[in-house]
Amino acid sequence: MEVLEKLDRRQIETLTAVRKGQNEVRGASLNFIADALGIRAPSALGRLTTLERLHLVTRYRGKTRLSAQGEACLLEYRRHHRVAESLFQHLGLSVDATHAAALEVDLAFSHRTIDRLCEAEGHPKECPHGEPIAPCSTRAGTEAS
Ligand SMILES: [Zn+2]
Ligand SMILES: [Zn+2]
Repeated sequence: MEVLEKLDRRQIETLTAVRKGQNEVRGASLNFIADALGIRAPSALGRLTTLERLHLVTRYRGKTRLSAQGEACLLEYRRHHRVAESLFQHLGLSVDATHAAALEVDLAFSHRTIDRLCEAEGHPKECPHGEPIAPCSTRAGTEAS
């Protein structure tokens, strides 16, 4: 089972907050992460400890960064979300409605299902909001053959 399929919405939001708060030089501070999530610092620390155990973030002198695995996980999540948005747009939802609808399913769908949906949608390059969709393994396989 892929890591992403074990994560819940709160964990995805926490990874997103870490990414927002980190830069080239240093990781995100606990206060930044807590503020971004609208929770208290001890709760934020609890979430970070869990993510650290999953090897998705690293912590050093109170600052937190995404690990390579955490970065890859967030990238994969975005792919799930944007492929789902494209599908819902195709099914007739307005661009505005696709985001909320995708949030209902993006973590529930497996990589395999997302790849199949991506293929069925003709491998869209962008979500309805113009954000890029990373190429899927199905397309990589097609191009190789
Ligand atoms: Zn694809
Ligand atoms: Zn979008």
